[in-house]
Amino acid sequence: MKNTINTTNPFNNKSLNSYTLFTEQQVENSLELADSCFSTWKKTSVSERTSLLSVLGDLLNKNKAEFSELMTLEMGKPISQSRAEIEKCITLCDFYETNAESFLADDIIETEAEESYISYDPLGTILAVMPWNYPFWQVLRFAIPTVTAGNTVLLKHASNVTGCALAIQELFEQAGYPKGCFQTLLVDHKTIASIISNDIVKAVSLTGSEKAGKSIAEIAGKNLKKCVLELGGNNACIILDDADLDTYMDTIVNARMQNTGQSCIAAKRFIVTEGIHDTFIKRFKAIIENLRYSNPLDENTTISTLAREDLAEDLQKQVDDAISKGAQVVVGNSRNKLYFEATLLANATPEMDVFKEETFGPVAPVFKVKNLDEALKLAGNSKFGLGTMVFTKDIETVSKKVIEINDGAFFINELVKSDSRLPFGGTKASGYGRELSQEGIREFVNVKTVYIK
Ligand code: NDP
Repeated sequence: MKNTINTTNPFNNKSLNSYTLFTEQQVENSLELADSCFSTWKKTSVSERTSLLSVLGDLLNKNKAEFSELMTLEMGKPISQSRAEIEKCITLCDFYETNAESFLADDIIETEAEESYISYDPLGTILAVMPWNYPFWQVLRFAIPTVTAGNTVLLKHASNVTGCALAIQELFEQAGYPKGCFQTLLVDHKTIASIISNDIVKAVSLTGSEKAGKSIAEIAGKNLKKCVLELGGNNACIILDDADLDTYMDTIVNARMQNTGQSCIAAKRFIVTEGIHDTFIKRFKAIIENLRYSNPLDENTTISTLAREDLAEDLQKQVDDAISKGAQVVVGNSRNKLYFEATLLANATPEMDVFKEETFGPVAPVFKVKNLDEALKLAGNSKFGLGTMVFTKDIETVSKKVIEINDGAFFINELVKSDSRLPFGGTKASGYGRELSQEGIREFVNVKTVYIK
């Protein structure tokens, strides 16, 4: 069995680093350290824990250039977007530093008892299985609230971003978190079953594909352990005839092309009413023709290679399927190994894979519809349920449709995005559970009833 992880720069295929996978004994040691750390960490006050968040935020800021470069080297994200990711992580630290105490405070409930209240106690050691697309944000979005609630964390990161995984562990240690509070495990995903079934692990959080989600949920279910799943998405972006394209066209394109299209919450199905359809196509084309593909370390790069060649190959199959079923390539569809040109497809239909499946790259299929009702019907026709966005001037009419959207998010005149202050998560094949906000910090707690007569 292979016992090393080799990381490679996806832009130039140059080797970056080689890491030895943990032995069974090392995994065992990490589990025990996490458990013993938990026995003291859980007794610290929330204010002690939140005070470390400000140190963590400062360290992120101090090391911003280094962390950003590491992400870009390992998974190919344009450097300006890597920096923005670290900046977002800093706002996450600020948010929980300010709010964790009130989110975790006892809730007094009046009953006939002398005193009765809800106490939000930590669960123990929580396993996180995380993806490569936002190597710092995805991990910290889970870990900051989870650790601040008094849990300890074990991270199994995607293997192609192992350098980031180790940098994040060091970040926690440098910030003054006790040893064992946050640990990175260098394991492959086949080891996950035995880790989840270990008594020390109390719950698991996964961000990744539907396939990985089904596997983790099955293992967690067998072991009667809670899991939070943040899986793929196939967000509809509805453009109505009265959409203000002058104001929002860049936002709309960004909703698809940011992170070179490799985002679960990206706009993946553009559902456009017929009165604005041709203008929309023209304007979308004009913007993506000006995206700048170059070395992602170059400051001016706006679009890059995909993180792995198999992702580009999968995307090519989806585009080929669309073309074979009548889609028209307005611009793009040239590929060179991991590089996939930003692509706009007109005449897309629900029979195509680009409608049914998640496209994880810079491909924008456009579906023409008659009106809002038809648009919403098409938007809802998906096995995924992460988010829907609508661009329109008629906010009054569209906001009445909230109840018709079965997703975890509904955004009007804005791209679906994660924000520390708001819950984040999906429905259907996009998973369950919520991250961020008060909901996120209460995912991995024991909601304990205390009753004193
Ligand atoms: P995966 O879901 O395979 O990888 C994400 C994480 O899950 C990694 O840490 C991976 O480990 C782990 N993993 C993979 N398979 C299993 C399994 N059977 N059991 C437990 N853990 C597992 O995503 P990919 O990188 O292969 O991307 C494939 C597709 O997934 C994308 O095209 C996209 O559609 C979707 N995706 C969605 C993301 C999101 O943000 N929701 C993020 C990434 C991908 P390892 O690296 O060792 O395989």
